[in-house]
Amino acid sequence: MEYLFDRWEEVRRDLIPGALLLLDYDGTLTPIVERPELAILSPDMRELLRRASQHYKLGVISGRSLADIKRLVGLGGIFYVGNHGFEISGPGVKLIKPEAERARPVVAKLCEELRWKLSDIKGTIIEDKGPTASVHYRSVADPNALEDLNGIFGEAVAPYVDSGTLRVTRGKKVFEIRPNIGWDKGKAVLWIIDTVNPSRDLMPVYVGDDRTDEDAFFALKDRGVTVLVSREVKESNAKYFVRDVGEVKAFLEKLISLRAK
Ligand SMILES: [Mg+2]
Repeated sequence: MEYLFDRWEEVRRDLIPGALLLLDYDGTLTPIVERPELAILSPDMRELLRRASQHYKLGVISGRSLADIKRLVGLGGIFYVGNHGFEISGPGVKLIKPEAERARPVVAKLCEELRWKLSDIKGTIIEDKGPTASVHYRSVADPNALEDLNGIFGEAVAPYVDSGTLRVTRGKKVFEIRPNIGWDKGKAVLWIIDTVNPSRDLMPVYVGDDRTDEDAFFALKDRGVTVLVSREVKESNAKYFVRDVGEVKAFLEKLISLRAK
């Protein structure tokens, strides 16, 4: 992985034919915060996204529900991908994965069970997002409570995972619960490219910070500009990295100035 701005000349050349910008939300456009509802987009980041969308096709991709991510970004005329790719909407584009829709009652039942079983562990946030769910534990301070959480959570999800109904992955202080179907941010990204840019003349650019983004980095290996947001250099399928949300901003500014001239 190389520092994006060290390779700017090379990236700039790749973007000459135009680009399809696909940006993760939490940890990419907004800093990671204690509670997910506090991850508000700053006015200057929103303005940058608005300006970028005048020059590039633009999409925001998130593990949040589609309704939530649309509300948080609040821009028209761009693509939104919610629930790790299970819900997609944008100009002339709409996708709802029926297999994921069918998982709703199962996810709801598990969330109810988890709410009950984890009610004693202070700081846990269980978020039912329809086809998927998140269990946030950033605010769980006590290490013993964390151990309990791991045990109880593991036991509660085991029947769903063992039966092949649901899949669980770990993100940044969060468990992600998803229907066990062959669909992820990577598949969603390829679907968007085929749908909005079938001629594939635009260079896909994907920026993300967490595990689920690795599927997208992998899908775009050798055919996109993939950027991991990370302070530490770590194993990743991404080609480049930037260090934080501020550098994502700098990247967007550079992208806009390429076109605005
Ligand atoms: Mg993220």
